[in-house]
Amino acid sequence: MNRSPVETILFLLMAGIFILTVPAWAQPQQATPLLVVDPGHGGTDGGVKINERYQEKDATLAIASLLQNELARSAAVTVQLTRQADRLMTTSERRKAVRALQPALFISLHVNGGFGKRSSGYEVYFPGFGSKGSGGGGTTEILKDMVRNKYLNESVRLAQSLQRNLEDVFPRKGRGLREAPIPILEGLAMPAVVVEIGFATNPEDRAKIMNDKTQRAIAQALSRAVLEYLNNR
Ligand SMILES: [Zn+2]
Repeated sequence: MNRSPVETILFLLMAGIFILTVPAWAQPQQATPLLVVDPGHGGTDGGVKINERYQEKDATLAIASLLQNELARSAAVTVQLTRQADRLMTTSERRKAVRALQPALFISLHVNGGFGKRSSGYEVYFPGFGSKGSGGGGTTEILKDMVRNKYLNESVRLAQSLQRNLEDVFPRKGRGLREAPIPILEGLAMPAVVVEIGFATNPEDRAKIMNDKTQRAIAQALSRAVLEYLNNR
């Protein structure tokens, strides 16, 4: 390798041009985790009524959009919503959308409704341990269970992060974490939770759910929880 100085300069220039012209698809990808947020209900399915003019579908979309805006500033995560407008979407359509996007995590937003005025505060649901047991203990079933449990543990961790942060908006009123078989979460191969952002049947919660400022505070709490979860992976 006895290159003259001119040859060396030419070589370096060519190498530089080559590096600069490598197409984007050939460069190592920086995979930013994707969060899919699912604003519950929509269109003719209004969900629970919050007042004469405001329904669950409106609150979930407003908070999901605010959450997307909050996280738009962060390079740690990208956000997509299952619906961006007031339109009807079935559970299977939502599940199909989630499976196609294959996000790193999934949050479905809802508003609770109780029989009395006393129930209040947020609730976070994650898929239950016992929701889909193994069907006989074969190797395939055991492996499936292991994968399920891995996502379950991560779902619990995400739920705990949400709990810690939502306490700021609903002090001393958190109803905490719930394990339950929830159709939209069944069999999703990712950490997935449903957040019930307060009770439409409780006067204080109702005011919070409809108020711009508290909607923003809820979105900020959700955003902090997501970043906290991702930072500790
Ligand atoms: Zn709902």
